[in-house]
Amino acid sequence: MTTDHCERLFYRDAWNRNGRICGVDVPGCLGCDLIQGRRDLPGGFIFRSDTWVINHVVGSMNLGTLVLSPTEHIDALADLSQDASLELGLLLRRSALTVEQILQPEQTYVALWAHGSDGRKHLHIVVQPVTAETVREYGGARSEQLQALMLEGGVVADRADIVDFCETARAVFARV
Ligand SMILES: [Zn+2]
Repeated sequence: MTTDHCERLFYRDAWNRNGRICGVDVPGCLGCDLIQGRRDLPGGFIFRSDTWVINHVVGSMNLGTLVLSPTEHIDALADLSQDASLELGLLLRRSALTVEQILQPEQTYVALWAHGSDGRKHLHIVVQPVTAETVREYGGARSEQLQALMLEGGVVADRADIVDFCETARAVFARV
């Protein structure tokens, strides 16, 4: 019996070994709600496998920021299966290739927080292209300072721009 990720047979569907909910649909969880179609997702999914989905960020980050989430409610990297982890590496690279081809950023950031006031949240790994123009727009801020300014600022990209971006990103992602 493997113990390095959610073990549904052993843990009777709902709980992993640390007592956190795992591997089931959790209504009210943003990740689960998007995956199950209970919440509006501008642009739709860019990629979907049995294990992972990729979509444009929902929230106040710059246009072109992608989010990778497990299709099941998993809230710890340590709980990913080996197969999901291997797929993640390739999907991160393809996500980065996609945003770099479309936006030519100065750098592409990768961040995982998934940490809310109640504790761990559904994993969501942010792949964020940061162009020279974005850095200028935020007064030269970079890295975590830039992300903090975006989250505090609350500026959400225009819905039509997100839809257009996702259409392009789906086409690019499919060939990288
Ligand atoms: Zn969830």
